[in-house]
Amino acid sequence: MSDSTNTEVRDLRALLAAVLAALTVPNDDAEYQRRLEGRAREVRTVIEAALAKSPDNLGWEVDYLRSQITAEEFDAGERNKNRCRRCSHPFEPSDQRFDGRARYQDTPWCRRCIDNCREGSAEHSCVICNPAHYGVVTQ
Ligand SMILES: [Zn+2]
Ligand SMILES: [Zn+2]
Repeated sequence: MSDSTNTEVRDLRALLAAVLAALTVPNDDAEYQRRLEGRAREVRTVIEAALAKSPDNLGWEVDYLRSQITAEEFDAGERNKNRCRRCSHPFEPSDQRFDGRARYQDTPWCRRCIDNCREGSAEHSCVICNPAHYGVVTQ
């Protein structure tokens, strides 16, 4: 193979790897659908740009897609910190009702889930009162 063919193959493989990574969101992610849609938009933009130019110079597209996905992962992580770990609903600090959407003290749970747990019957079990059952390791 010529050098330029080698470069094309290498860049195309790098682009395919970046696309694969971009379209991979953990199945149990609370925002799975939303994140996948956003990432698919990025992938379409990058592939359109890549197809519009010479295949021996796709390094920029690969770097761009990787940086977009890194930024998306960071944003998703930030949103995750502000979300109840039981019901996945974002915390709403202004909703201070006993069963509101505000965070309960400094727990990872919302007031509604704490209330639901405390009001539970004898058979009640949830990740808050029985974390081991749900495979949650508490430090
Ligand atoms: Zn909750
Ligand atoms: Zn409970």
